[in-house]
Amino acid sequence: MVQRILCEVDNCKYWANGNRCNADVIYVTNQTAEEAVDTDDTGCKTFNPE
Ligand code: SF4
Repeated sequence: MVQRILCEVDNCKYWANGNRCNADVIYVTNQTAEEAVDTDDTGCKTFNPE
C-alpha cells in the first residue's frame, strides 16, 4: 500500500521538505480520556524531536 503522509511538524526527525513524513509507520493517538471529536484531539506518537 502506498502511503502519503503530510505533516507540518518540521522539528520531527521524520519530517522532510514538502511537509512529507518519512516514517515507515506512524502511530496516532487519542489525546483525550474520551472519544476524540475533532482533529485537535489526536496526535502523532511517532513524533521524535531532532
Ligand atoms: S512522525 Fe509524526 S510528527 Fe513526525 S513527521 Fe511523521 S507525522 Fe509528523
